[in-house]
Amino acid sequence: MRYEGDIFRPPSEADSILLQATIGCSHNGCRFCAMYRGKRFRARSPAEVAADIAEAAVEYPRRGRVFLCDGDALAMPQADLVAVLEEIRRGLPEVLRVSAYANARSVAEKTDAELRELRALGLRLFHLGLESGDDVTLAAVGKHGNALFHVEQGRRARAVDIKLFVTVLLGLGGIARSEVHALATARALSAMGPEYVGALTLTLVPGTPLHHDHQRGRFRLPPPPDLLVELRTMLEHTDIRGVFYANHASNYLPIRARLPRDRAEALAAVDACLRGEVPLRPEWMRGL
Ligand code: SF4
Repeated sequence: MRYEGDIFRPPSEADSILLQATIGCSHNGCRFCAMYRGKRFRARSPAEVAADIAEAAVEYPRRGRVFLCDGDALAMPQADLVAVLEEIRRGLPEVLRVSAYANARSVAEKTDAELRELRALGLRLFHLGLESGDDVTLAAVGKHGNALFHVEQGRRARAVDIKLFVTVLLGLGGIARSEVHALATARALSAMGPEYVGALTLTLVPGTPLHHDHQRGRFRLPPPPDLLVELRTMLEHTDIRGVFYANHASNYLPIRARLPRDRAEALAAVDACLRGEVPLRPEWMRGL
């Protein structure tokens, strides 16, 4: 497999074949994100991806899932993405699910018919970064599009039966917008109705503009108890039928809750932690 640069994938794609359909991120402008800063965005040709599919067929003949890297496979021209999905079907017949990071802007550039076509060819899950439901926070961190835009694009995917794993970031509003960020995020998630939510804790990565702001006192990350309160607010107010994960390595308190069934139990766990009855994950065990 010919990978260019560092490869990132969601934790839930640990067993997936990683195919690099695009290089980098088409936006590459979020002020907290360091993932693809050194990469100039481009889409690979279907022929390039087909060569990797042929290799994967030899190396991983029994794997049932494919994740399309890098940051925005949906930005590929429709005909090329269709060709890649058809080649996966032909060359990797055991694969039942293809997923990809989906930038809301790239979803918006697809028609409903195009999204339906991708779903019919096996693209079954989008990992969509909402990050926050608060428009002020989204604008401050350089995210493309406001919360409503993300909700609308997520709903368009769901309408054609593409499942959603939506990522949000605890702490992204800073101390100043902590409460607003948490509540607005819960509202946006409720409006979108994803099958899965992943709440990660913002990690300030050296070299990013947000880290630079933090060093100069222009951005203040909420302390751990406030991050727990944000998590509590999101758990309390996110009205979905799906799984809410806050068990990423960046989180201070690992939570996995099927909503609405496990809501009360999850809130009780956060409250116990806030009272000091359950220890926070120590800093040395936290990571990206
Ligand atoms: S957070 Fe996502 S959209 Fe933003 S720069 Fe990083 S990969 Fe691109």
